[in-house]
Amino acid sequence: MTGSAGSRAAGPDEPALAALPSVETLAARLRSEGASHALAVRAARATIDARRDAIRDSHAAANEALGESLLDDARSRLRGLRQLSLRPVLNATGVVIHTNLGRAPLPQPALDAALEVACGYSNLEYELPAGRRGSRQAHVEGLLCELTGSEAALVLNNCAGAVLLAAAALAGGRELIVSRGQLVEIGGSFRLPEVVAQSGAGLVEVGTTNRTRLADYERAIGPLTGAIMRAHRSNFRTLGFVEEVEVEPLCSLAAERGVPVVDDIGSGALAVGVPELGDEPSVRRSVAAGCAVVCFSGDKLLGGPQAGVMVGRSEEVERCRTHPLARALRIDGLSLAALEATLRLYLDPAAAVREIPVLRMLTATERELGTRAELMRRILAEGGVDARVLRAAAKVGGGALPLLELDGPVCAVDPGPRGVDELARRLRTGDPPVIGRAREGWLLLDPRTLDDDGARAAAARVVAAI
Ligand SMILES: *Cc1c(COP(=O)(O)O)cnc(C)c1O
Repeated sequence: MTGSAGSRAAGPDEPALAALPSVETLAARLRSEGASHALAVRAARATIDARRDAIRDSHAAANEALGESLLDDARSRLRGLRQLSLRPVLNATGVVIHTNLGRAPLPQPALDAALEVACGYSNLEYELPAGRRGSRQAHVEGLLCELTGSEAALVLNNCAGAVLLAAAALAGGRELIVSRGQLVEIGGSFRLPEVVAQSGAGLVEVGTTNRTRLADYERAIGPLTGAIMRAHRSNFRTLGFVEEVEVEPLCSLAAERGVPVVDDIGSGALAVGVPELGDEPSVRRSVAAGCAVVCFSGDKLLGGPQAGVMVGRSEEVERCRTHPLARALRIDGLSLAALEATLRLYLDPAAAVREIPVLRMLTATERELGTRAELMRRILAEGGVDARVLRAAAKVGGGALPLLELDGPVCAVDPGPRGVDELARRLRTGDPPVIGRAREGWLLLDPRTLDDDGARAAAARVVAAI
């Protein structure tokens, strides 16, 4: 293929097509600006192909031979080729654990740990004193036991994997009892009945959507029972004529009948002294109640990397550890490094709140948020953009604390005559992309999910976009 008009028969567009530069000419220009040969040719070819199509579609003129707009288009395509698809964005939504935006930003010690391990070899599965093969679990098991009071721990790729493994290892080929009020969907790809089906366990539903009593579980336990599973209603609540069995009486009943309890608590609140987490099930409580296995995510309220953590009794955790699925679901070394560093922060509760971004954002003070909102307003005003600081409520997100509204100051931007949708689109497609929240024709920039540098950058992007 060349940059000429090709073999099409001459038509009304022919002069415009003939005026286009060749791929080689355009590529040479990009190379003179520092692009590599391969990328310059790809960008030039895509630019000229697109221009040729545009001429044919609209009978538009080619303008100049190598006019600025053609060159600009080629430069922008070159930038696109150089840019990674997965890259950082500025989260100005105020949603702290935003699943679409990568959930928990990592604490600095977790970043450092992952980077160090990534740069070379590590003792991922090697016992240094003995000089022999070790287990990757050894790096976090003791920490998890200490932090949760459990006998044993196992970390996996994510919480969905941990739940699948627990169901397969403890109830595969047998029955798994679940309350009808807990047959939850946590995002379209995690629906508890479907996960249970994949585990090879037979689902036995007890109770009703709104009420399940201890007697319902009691009646369902039989010789085929493999386990009882509880699942946290992470992303919704029920109101009114509602009854659920607390974890303690359920574990007592299960212990009498010799049945293990699996508790999928989802978000994994480990922090202490954080009132904002009040409504979330605590890992320690479920462990203390006697659950065989408690499962939670690493990248929700724990504030670490994607991971599925399983803590509980030695016997049942061992059954999970030795199940073939455990190998398929194992955590990778980088996430493990980040998880260990995150968990270590929890040894000092004050350090955890200070250094773990998710906890810091949840507990951000009115004053801190107000100052950052004002910082954005000032930068916008200096750039000639009308903005004001007002109050709005944000959500925690990520399937946690669905009723908690984090009320606080935000910076509201007047998008001008083009409107809020166009401004939001420009911000999403800019560099770095900024994701805000539209409300009643205004674009809200929430300081809760931005740090000071992020707030400055987001405001500057808005000025440029307007
Ligand atoms: C979020 C959640 C999961 C899935 O966790 P991932 O780490 O995203 O796999 C499972 N169960 C509950 C109750 C959850 O809240």
